[in-house]
Amino acid sequence: MLPGMSSPSPSLADAVRSTDGLLLVVTGAGISLASGIPTFRGTDKDAVWKRDVTELGTNRFFQAEPAGSWSWYLSRFDKVLGAKPNPGHTALVDLERWAKEQGREFLLVTQNIDGLHKEAGSTELVEVHGSAQRVRCSGRRCVNGAPKGSLPRASVDISAFRANPVDENVPKCPACGELLRQHVLWFDEFYNEHADYQWERVLDASERARLVLFVGTSFAVGVTELVTTAARHRHVPIFSIDPAGRAAAGISLIAEPSEVALPALVAALRA
Ligand SMILES: [Zn+2]
Repeated sequence: MLPGMSSPSPSLADAVRSTDGLLLVVTGAGISLASGIPTFRGTDKDAVWKRDVTELGTNRFFQAEPAGSWSWYLSRFDKVLGAKPNPGHTALVDLERWAKEQGREFLLVTQNIDGLHKEAGSTELVEVHGSAQRVRCSGRRCVNGAPKGSLPRASVDISAFRANPVDENVPKCPACGELLRQHVLWFDEFYNEHADYQWERVLDASERARLVLFVGTSFAVGVTELVTTAARHRHVPIFSIDPAGRAAAGISLIAEPSEVALPALVAALRA
């Protein structure tokens, strides 16, 4: 909140309990920090990669250097794919269950591609930036229906590429032979790029939410701006759980780690 601004900040549990409609939760990288996953924004610390994530995480880079793009993602996803959900993820599963028991609508939208919400058991879930667990064909005329089709990453043999990461060894689509790509939203693509990103569902939820809870997001991407703007316009309560305290005006900040604040919220709701 900006200095000098004051706004009533009812306890999060009280606000959630009195919400009469859709409860919308939006998570970012902060919720996965306790699972050992580094944030994906900002300049890459790895000396091998001199360029910024906003340049490397693009379709433009993939088209120009497919092997470079795959190597860069493998170096990042290898850290992601071994990670486990933490108590923050588990608490959001419990919050969804509580909401259903209370007859409330619930939706979790995550910017994370680590798959930890799904692994924890969240079901009313939108992975709006895609998933590290899947890949898809880059061919525009794939017989498998690209760009719609996607494959589990585990089903693709990438051993040849790992042994010799050159363009010729980039994994190919089993249906048409075109290059496979990451099933993630790139910086030069749009949210409606792929049906799996469920952008229409996010738009609908942003217009109907009765309470918005951000968790561990730096408010740096389009989805947070969309949801925040819509919530402010409709005078919907907005909370942000973020130990770094980067919330903005009109947002009630809870400056705690999500793996602490979310289990506390569920405990308060159950009390
Ligand atoms: Zn294909």
